[in-house]
Amino acid sequence: MPLDNPLLNLDSRIQFDQIQAGQVMPALETLLAEANRTVEVLAREPAVPRTYASTLTALDMATERLEDAMALVRHLEGVATSPELRAANNEAEPLVSEFLSSIPLNPGLWKAVKQVAAGEEELSAVERRFLKKTVDGFRRHGAELDDEGKQKLQEVEVELTRITTKFSENVLDSTNAFEYVITDEAQLAGLPPSAIAAAKQNAEAKGMAGWRFTLQGPSYAAILTYLDDGKVREHFYRASMRRAAEAPFDNSGLVERILTLRHQKAHLLGYFNFADLVLEERMSKRGARALEFLYELASHTSDRFLQENRDLLAFRHKLEGDFAPEPAAWDVAYYAEKMRRERYDFDEEEVRPYFPLPQVVRGMFAIAESLFGIRVVERPGLSVWNVDVHGYDVQDADGQLLGSFYSDWHPRETKRGGAWMDALRTGGPAADGGFTPHVGIICGNLTEPIGDAPALLTHREVETIFHEFGHLLHHCLSRVPVRSLAGTNVAWDFVELPSQIMENWCWETEALDLFARHYQSHAPIPPELLAKMKRARTFRAANTQMRQLGFGIVDLQLHIDFEAKSYREKTGGTVVDYARIMMQSYSPADLPAEHASICSFTHLFSSPVAYGSGYYSYKWAEVLDADAFGRFREEGVLNPETGRAFREMILEKGDSEDPEDLYRAFRGREPDHRALLERLGLLTLQSD
Ligand SMILES: [Zn+2]
Repeated sequence: MPLDNPLLNLDSRIQFDQIQAGQVMPALETLLAEANRTVEVLAREPAVPRTYASTLTALDMATERLEDAMALVRHLEGVATSPELRAANNEAEPLVSEFLSSIPLNPGLWKAVKQVAAGEEELSAVERRFLKKTVDGFRRHGAELDDEGKQKLQEVEVELTRITTKFSENVLDSTNAFEYVITDEAQLAGLPPSAIAAAKQNAEAKGMAGWRFTLQGPSYAAILTYLDDGKVREHFYRASMRRAAEAPFDNSGLVERILTLRHQKAHLLGYFNFADLVLEERMSKRGARALEFLYELASHTSDRFLQENRDLLAFRHKLEGDFAPEPAAWDVAYYAEKMRRERYDFDEEEVRPYFPLPQVVRGMFAIAESLFGIRVVERPGLSVWNVDVHGYDVQDADGQLLGSFYSDWHPRETKRGGAWMDALRTGGPAADGGFTPHVGIICGNLTEPIGDAPALLTHREVETIFHEFGHLLHHCLSRVPVRSLAGTNVAWDFVELPSQIMENWCWETEALDLFARHYQSHAPIPPELLAKMKRARTFRAANTQMRQLGFGIVDLQLHIDFEAKSYREKTGGTVVDYARIMMQSYSPADLPAEHASICSFTHLFSSPVAYGSGYYSYKWAEVLDADAFGRFREEGVLNPETGRAFREMILEKGDSEDPEDLYRAFRGREPDHRALLERLGLLTLQSD
């Protein structure tokens, strides 16, 4: 193999343009063998007593080169794929993940880790935390079980993998089994031109005349939101709620089986239930606590929720007369959209001219520079994977290089969808007293420039850029000496705090003034337009929140209170009935008896763990970001001292301390959900 394989020699200036698909497998085989040897040596009984450095630090570093190379391959496959690269990635990925998941099951390593834990070595707080987390991680993977227990756990995992895959396939197949073709143009009444064009294109692709609609997200949402024909909306709604709930794609039995297996797994490992197993390493710590959090939010949302539902009925009466019935489940989105248009008259397109991409990015950097005391410097001429990519350095106030990153904002055929941040290399303080710079990337699929004009973004797209940049700062500003605890390697319900908090600056006039300017006239957003945008933000916010809370509550209830017996007693039926009855309280309309949306809830059941017991995290993180931003509100949204505090107590700390302690250090108290309620317009502030 050539010695100059760039995947074997990664440093902070990655030569993206020199990496070829043919180098992937040779490099990863070398790195896998290297990591394997290191792990074997670590697992062997040593001649001298083990220390933290010889065991834990060595374990932390053992897989670094392998993981960095794999991250880079995965990254390139995501932004500049080719059939060769995809094949190489598909070949490498299972080998690497199999190796990584074998580590906590290695008996020699488990013994080694326990020896260090039992030792009397003087350790720093970060070292103690890493040691404890390593011990816990091994335990949670079954390191402490006897052979029979390990065998049983293995059987549970194998079955879970198999049936959660089947669950996903059933959802996909039953979604694809539905189509609805309209051939009479009059029946399209109500739909916006974009949805009609998409349906036309869809029909053409299938060699059909007319307009073809499906249960896929955009098509389904367009029908439910806009189509005037209520009978057709009902047909779509019922079909969607029955997805994967009947033969030949029936998931109802699989849901029960997945819950049973997860419960067995939790019991084997010594937990009361699956939620406690999953949440032990999260900020919420226990299932019951996460559930309590959701019920508490629901109690503050329900009055407004009922009010919104009464308003919608009144709106319908105004349109159709006093005898019009309450909106059915398939009517809610339709009337809500009509009401939104009448009340708010806010068109997202109106603000685009104020958000040219280069200006938004410059403004965002300026805000981060003054808040966090850093400098972001563009580095033209770096090796990149596409001409559209920009490279930057992040420097500390004294000029020290903290990290480099690359931005890649527009769609391409060779790039996957969505927006994301990825860590390509995790740096931090080095043993010699120096500092190893981080490397990260931020990607999106934002509106492209047309002609000579810059790309003009929607406000939501501006939020997306700020969001991913927040993740990037969490990565690039990390000063954690332990790689596994650095940057964004934090609890799942904490990781969105640095990203979501950045979105707040997209709503503050003071901050908007720095970057929201008309791309031709340089005028700021007219105050009336900004006010309309802010008002539209809270439209039916209680309904949106109740829906999320309902999903989170069903998720936790199923994973906490799982006893086939108990829910049968409560509902006299199956898990499908149980889920429907629970969801009913969070729905603005009656759920029909055949409603079985739990059968297509892929978030919860599409892989052995998936988001099972974790759906609440969305709301949890929103509470954190709204409340943390409250300190900026109180002290000045551009106050550099507050910014420095956020940098020192959150952005630099990764998982080196308990996130609850980090939060308290920044905010001076426990998180308070009132800031979120206020942001959603669910709180009248008189009481405070
Ligand atoms: Zn995020």
